[in-house]
Amino acid sequence: MKVVLFHQQGGPEVLKYSDFPTPEPGPGEVLVKLYAAALNRIDVLVRNGWPGLKLELPHINGADGAGNVVALGENVASFRVGDRVVINANLGCGRCANCLAGQDNMCLEWHLLGETVRGTYAEYIVLPERQLFLLPEGFDYHAAAAAGLVFHTAWHSLIRKGKLRAGETLLVVGASGGVNTAYIQIAKFAGARVIVIGSDEKKLSLAESLGADILINRTKEEDWSKSVFLATNRQGVDVVADNVGTTYPLSFRAARKGGRILTVGNTGGPKFEIDNRYIFAKHLSIIGTTMGTLKDFTEAMELVIEGKLRAVIDRIYPLPDANAAQERLAHNEQLGKIVLSIS
Ligand SMILES: [Zn+2]
Repeated sequence: MKVVLFHQQGGPEVLKYSDFPTPEPGPGEVLVKLYAAALNRIDVLVRNGWPGLKLELPHINGADGAGNVVALGENVASFRVGDRVVINANLGCGRCANCLAGQDNMCLEWHLLGETVRGTYAEYIVLPERQLFLLPEGFDYHAAAAAGLVFHTAWHSLIRKGKLRAGETLLVVGASGGVNTAYIQIAKFAGARVIVIGSDEKKLSLAESLGADILINRTKEEDWSKSVFLATNRQGVDVVADNVGTTYPLSFRAARKGGRILTVGNTGGPKFEIDNRYIFAKHLSIIGTTMGTLKDFTEAMELVIEGKLRAVIDRIYPLPDANAAQERLAHNEQLGKIVLSIS
């Protein structure tokens, strides 16, 4: 099969369009012919590498994908050859105490597809059947692949752990990334009011088109926490979704007393200062999560299939151009998800 792989970590030039052995499904596993893969920031981080990251080389990037079931291992119960499927990238073992309690994103042997396990920048992939979700006839593979990880992650963070309710106000720090566009849509679906902080008018108008109620341009308002305060009758917001990290001082100020701060990442880098006085004096809760449970994936994907949530697609590249696609992501030029088309 054709894949995009790398033999050593580094810049976009290490990605090679190459031949690789097609995997075969074992018991309980399914072979999927992929037609679409979507990019996530983790792809670029893994390709660059970080201290302590151990990969079996060559490695194949990619957490998100959608395609067609072409072969079944023994004892596969839920799928037939020809089924259209989207992939759940959260790899739980299915056996540990956390998996058995339905918290498979806290699995004791947890892996993310494409991070420590070879991923979806490939014509074929083998996965346990529990990682697949059935798509209806005619549902676009690119739309499905683009929705998987971001809606799964945002649904778990905002609804399951953040417990966002109708009538509450959510502040999203960042306007155009995949998870942020998912947060905005899920919050509107849940009946919340949404304030978005963005860095330019294009990104903010995307947020507005997804239903955001109040838009704040951070290049014009450096201390945007004041504007948030004024927009909430000087109360602050109920929930902040902050996946930048370096913006925590402003996010803490923008939260109401008893507010919840949600985080699923740190695009501003992993280390930054926080002022602890805000956390106790304002009774703030900081809720970190990664990915979501099987139940979250089902709930989020059902809404995607019903058309109530939809991934915003920025641009589609053919698989051999994965390096150009990753460069666009690395430079934050995208509005929504970047997708790879696989023939
Ligand atoms: Zn487990």
